[in-house]
Amino acid sequence: MRLILFKQVDYRDNDLIVNGLDENDRRVSFLIRGAKKAGSKSAAYSVLGNIYDFICDDEDYHQMHRFKGGDLVKSNHHIMDSLLKIAVFNCLLELVEKLCQDDEITFHGLYKNFSKALQLLDQDDHELLVLGLFMAYVCEMLGIKPQVDGCVCCGENRIVALNIEEGGFVCQKHHHQNDELYHDVEALKTFRYLNKAEFANYESLRSLGLDFLCLHCLRKFLKQHGAINLNSYDFLLSIAKSAIN
Ligand SMILES: [Zn+2]
Repeated sequence: MRLILFKQVDYRDNDLIVNGLDENDRRVSFLIRGAKKAGSKSAAYSVLGNIYDFICDDEDYHQMHRFKGGDLVKSNHHIMDSLLKIAVFNCLLELVEKLCQDDEITFHGLYKNFSKALQLLDQDDHELLVLGLFMAYVCEMLGIKPQVDGCVCCGENRIVALNIEEGGFVCQKHHHQNDELYHDVEALKTFRYLNKAEFANYESLRSLGLDFLCLHCLRKFLKQHGAINLNSYDFLLSIAKSAIN
């Protein structure tokens, strides 16, 4: 069974429980005995963000499997090279974990997008773009994609701002005082691109110059319409601030 690990939990004195996402977008759990013992070989199979093939002889996804061995398929260890990458990585892990807590959601392409995001984060240095594309993908999958083609209230083409509550862009007539990105033409354009694009468009988006404005909006969108409060985002912000100062 091929899976990406997204969470680990201590279990008893020496054991670990790891949660992963398999290629069919199902959440699976393995108990790794002795993983916390000094010198344990099985500890190498509990690294978050890595892709493994775990030996698994039954297909019951609801029960806890016992780890019986496996192979490392791909390590994304370059993510650990920078604090900014680690902060974005934490956001990705939290998003996947929170999605997987909800049994009601049917995932489409979560493994594919998650593995792509990790690969790009590992190999490239457009961390905010990776997170932005992943957040936009999550919004789309949850059916809460922002409306970025004209005003969400009346369809008017000339839009002036983003209204999170209404669910997308608004025109001058439907604009409220607390709207985001008000008259910020560049940011509105970037937000539109981000919500139209997918990871396949990554190369052409590298020059986008994505800053935190659009990510703030996507985070608010996920909270307001998807009930996902992305706590790791605050750490990302503090890292970014300290890098500037
Ligand atoms: Zn309008």
